[in-house]
Amino acid sequence: MTNRPEKRIIIMGGGFAGVKCARTLRSKLQNEEVQIVLFNSENYMVFQPLLAEVVGASISPEPISVPLRQMLPGVYCRTEDVTKIDLENNFVEYSGDRSLIGRMDYDHLVIATGSDVNMGQIPGMSDHSYPLKTVGDAIALRYHVIQQMENAEISDDKARRPWYLSFIIVGGGFSGVEVAGEINDLVRDTHKYYKNISEDDIKVTLVHSRDQILPEVSSSLRDFAREKMEKAGIDMVLNHRVSYVTKDGVGFGDGTTINGATVVSTVGNAPVKVVQALDVEKERGRLLTEPDMRLKGQSNAWAVGDCSVITNSYDGSVCTPTGQFAERQGRQTAQNIVRTIRGEETKPFYFKPLGQLCAIGGHNAVAEFLGVRISGFVAWFLWRSVYLFKLPQISHRVKVGFDWAWEIFYSRDLAYARVIQTERISRSHFIPGDYVFKKGDPSNNFYIIEEGEVEILKNSSEGEDEEVIAILGKGDFFGEMALLEHRIRSSSVRAKTHLEVTVIGRKVFEQISGTLAPFKDFLADAIKRRSVNIWQKLPVAYNILEGLSLSTFIHPLETTLSPQDTFEDAVKLLGGEDLEFCCVVDQGNKLVGVITRTDIFGAVEHGARPHEKVSVFMTSSPVVATENDTPPLVAATMREHDLKWVPVVDNLTNLYVKGYVRRDKMISYVLERIHQHEETNAAD
Ligand SMILES: Cc1cc2nc3c(=O)[nH]c(=O)nc-3n(C[C@H](O)[C@H](O)[C@H](O)COP(=O)(O)OP(=O)(O)OC[C@H]3O[C@@H](n4cnc5c(N)ncnc54)[C@H](O)[C@@H]3O)c2cc1C
Repeated sequence: MTNRPEKRIIIMGGGFAGVKCARTLRSKLQNEEVQIVLFNSENYMVFQPLLAEVVGASISPEPISVPLRQMLPGVYCRTEDVTKIDLENNFVEYSGDRSLIGRMDYDHLVIATGSDVNMGQIPGMSDHSYPLKTVGDAIALRYHVIQQMENAEISDDKARRPWYLSFIIVGGGFSGVEVAGEINDLVRDTHKYYKNISEDDIKVTLVHSRDQILPEVSSSLRDFAREKMEKAGIDMVLNHRVSYVTKDGVGFGDGTTINGATVVSTVGNAPVKVVQALDVEKERGRLLTEPDMRLKGQSNAWAVGDCSVITNSYDGSVCTPTGQFAERQGRQTAQNIVRTIRGEETKPFYFKPLGQLCAIGGHNAVAEFLGVRISGFVAWFLWRSVYLFKLPQISHRVKVGFDWAWEIFYSRDLAYARVIQTERISRSHFIPGDYVFKKGDPSNNFYIIEEGEVEILKNSSEGEDEEVIAILGKGDFFGEMALLEHRIRSSSVRAKTHLEVTVIGRKVFEQISGTLAPFKDFLADAIKRRSVNIWQKLPVAYNILEGLSLSTFIHPLETTLSPQDTFEDAVKLLGGEDLEFCCVVDQGNKLVGVITRTDIFGAVEHGARPHEKVSVFMTSSPVVATENDTPPLVAATMREHDLKWVPVVDNLTNLYVKGYVRRDKMISYVLERIHQHEETNAAD
């Protein structure tokens, strides 16, 4: 057994910065002198600049995943996530074998964790778009693109083909431009192998929030890139910010939309969790550093690459988050650590950028290299040569070179080995008016509403317009009957408001409903309730209610609570005999929640204090009716939710409270009319 060297340097992250840092340290420090430990989430480094080429089937994924332990002899590589950094006591924690938490001390720490994808900024983005950060992302996107071509080929619905063949790329930076070019090349180069795909059906759109794409290069090169890409058939939508994404495409703030089966997101970065949790100076989540790349105020912790903010002493500018900067920062940090160990002065980061290169598809690229601007085929050739040379291992260069040579002589490969994934639970976002599913669709999923409301639509006979027969809200579920009975959908479900649902696939649903007894009973109960059309049993009641306006049953609110009122106020109001519920409204009379006696009991159980605000324990997003809903619909909704009353609002956007409807009053009204009717008949 060998003794551990005196010092230990921990590097978090095996990307451009971490790898360069580890290599440089190992070349300058003896094994006996210092142990170098590199933590990385995977056991390989991802060469991200070539990810778009994997999407476009120009190269296979293996050559851009470079194995760390083969690349870094003498470095102790651990495929683990660091979960905590303790700067005061100089240790990190990691989630180790069997998920046990391990701890390791360090003399120096280098944080090189890059950035994470943040798809949560735009509603629906995380549910309906493809990110491009990992090799897995690139493979999944390539297969998805090819699958859309297969779908278009076999679709009997001609009008649907252009939707399958429409690809929307959000973000006009390096990665957005490269992936748009690659998808465009892949689809246009190979459509000739499909009998039913016409080139006119193919649409690739690049959406960018500014007036020019590629903010990283000079203005004239940006124009060149845009012109070339447009010529190759790519639509540019500039000065537009995507506001939401659904399964049908993307929407903008001005109400316009672009439809397409594929949305790729190249926008939205966030620091990784362990960096987020670190209590040090940051700028937009990135770690602020001293000129020599130490973390601000720290003597033995350093930050490099995309996770850091580093000033370049060459020109005083803040370094851009690119591979070439990350590599140089990794190397110079290693040199500064060596200087620190040897008691020498550290140096500030200094690098004269070499230039920028970006492939734009169709064997074209734009480049600014050592002050010279070039574009077109020559730039593309330069781009390929530089990246081939930059791949960290010779064996990987040979593989990529081979793939590129193959592509010159043969078409891109359309075969894909489909990986059948275990079904999982996912989430989906819909905008008002979107159908979650339509009558006649196959039933594959079960849905639970997390936010918003849906309308259940039915047409009693063929050719009739759809009628809203119920409204479901937060916490409700749907889709279970057709799944359990193995049949197609007998009704349609449409989003009434912006809607977030949890989607459970058939297999998982069957597993849960078959084994979890309480869930089984709960479902059986719901099915019993839903399978009975109450109006079929009560045609007289339906006839009475059908022609009426809901205003017949709306009672004005006598008293309300505000979200700022207290638990004590609520108890005073609901403690008496008369009032069973109360609406909580803001200053503009907008409904923000309701409070029932059940909420009061719940709050007591949770130890509510007298001055606790009503907003803490009220039911927010309650089920509501709108003025324009019909009385039979409101009655069915109260029955579905077992409600004795329901608030009525002007519409679902304003939520301006108009009053409430009581179930008992509705029933009394119907009974009275029936009674009158019988009396009239008897008199006749
Ligand atoms: C699609 C795409 C195209 C690009 N094209 C270009 C280009 O053409 N030119 C260019 O210069 N740049 C390009 N870039 C940017 C470039 O790839 C990044 O700037 C560079 O990778 C940053 O290097 P890094 O070492 O800081 O981070 P990364 O290379 O992202 O590496 C970070 C590593 O840290 C690991 N990690 C994260 N958290 C933990 C943890 N808690 N514990 C252990 N390990 C962790 C990650 O798994 C990852 O391996 C592109 C990026 C993308 C996504």
